[in-house]
Amino acid sequence: MLPPDKAIWRPFTQHQTAACSLKVKSGRGTLLTLEDGRELIDAISSWWVNLHGHGHPKIAEAIYQQALKLEHVIFAGFSHDPAEELVKKLQPFLPSHLTRFFYSDNGSTAVEVALKMAYQTFWNRGEKRSTFVAFEGGYHGDTLGAVSVGARSLFNAPFEHLLFDVERVPYPATFFGDPSVEEKDEKALKAFKKIFLDKGSEIAAVIIEPLIQGVAGMRQARPQFLEQMEKIARQSGALLIFDEVMTGFGRTGTFLATDQSGCKPDFICLSKGITGGFLPLALTITTEDVFESFLSNEIGKAFHHGHSYTANPLGCAAAIASLELLKEKPYEKMEERINKEAEALVRHPLVKRARGLGGIFAFDLATEEKGYGSQVGNTYRELVEKEGVLIRPLGETVYVMPPYSISNKELQKVFHTLQGALASL
Ligand SMILES: *Cc1c(COP(=O)(O)O)cnc(C)c1O
Repeated sequence: MLPPDKAIWRPFTQHQTAACSLKVKSGRGTLLTLEDGRELIDAISSWWVNLHGHGHPKIAEAIYQQALKLEHVIFAGFSHDPAEELVKKLQPFLPSHLTRFFYSDNGSTAVEVALKMAYQTFWNRGEKRSTFVAFEGGYHGDTLGAVSVGARSLFNAPFEHLLFDVERVPYPATFFGDPSVEEKDEKALKAFKKIFLDKGSEIAAVIIEPLIQGVAGMRQARPQFLEQMEKIARQSGALLIFDEVMTGFGRTGTFLATDQSGCKPDFICLSKGITGGFLPLALTITTEDVFESFLSNEIGKAFHHGHSYTANPLGCAAAIASLELLKEKPYEKMEERINKEAEALVRHPLVKRARGLGGIFAFDLATEEKGYGSQVGNTYRELVEKEGVLIRPLGETVYVMPPYSISNKELQKVFHTLQGALASL
């Protein structure tokens, strides 16, 4: 029999060439303790999920107390306090036109649900709209629908024939002091407009990561870009899906990225930060209009979609506890805190296209190699890890997205380490 560490097939891993996984024994605050006793500062919130640090006692306690009462129950025909309480607690944080909450359990399913709801809205109304518009570089998850609207790459090449066709538009991908930002916006909007001119009446929905595309390499777009895009989409009656799986829960400095624009999306997808990083949970939140299009005496017009762990009470309890901790709005201070520490780093000759928003900061390593296969990010990651900081570059893009609970001293160490490691590249 294989030893368990070999038997486990890991995500996004080429096992032939991958290094051994580091075994984590415990997490406390921003620190992860490894089996060999080393400590790492988690500068990426463990794949963007952790908000208040690891092992936060308030969230741990909330999960424990809920588990003693009710760990889980079927969510069709039944309800429970944690699911209702979480909606009540979330409402004041959200735009008031978003009134209907659909639970699932991860970011991909939150997106999948939005895509299916948007599509079925038109089907229910007897309108033929079957096209989605998405953005170059977009990432919306790993289930087939989510992959279809995401960027095509060598990662999903095997599935090409299984994916549905999508109209694609450039994403501006701007950065601090970008001299060509207006041009980029214009180019993207021109392409966007053309698609709507050609086939506006066939388009069901537009899906976008608002303000920042995560997986594509923390590529930014401005709020006015979102607003202009919305205007065009509205004229043809297409629905708007804002995938806030990464940007939600304060990552961009406001509770939602949507809050920085005047946009009124028809769907918002939330997951990652929702439980503070403790348990899998997701929400797809939509409007009265969309909800009403599913009301009928015909059973076939209902939304026939659900997961075994829909609205898991433990996840909801964790999310409620996490929202309590977010009441202080710790995310509002992140941008200033980060920019202060990043000042020296952004002037380094190996640092290109520095960018960031709220609690997210990124730059590209100024080397010849390009793209996801580039080794430079990996080399850099190893150098930084040796000094006690966990990062996970996206190709040559290096980013940090720490939990809001990171101390000033730890944040200083993160940026000091990033800078120091550049000298060894
Ligand atoms: C991570 C991510 C997803 C997918 O979420 P999973 O929980 O990993 O399935 C979808 N959209 C965006 C923007 C993400 O960053």
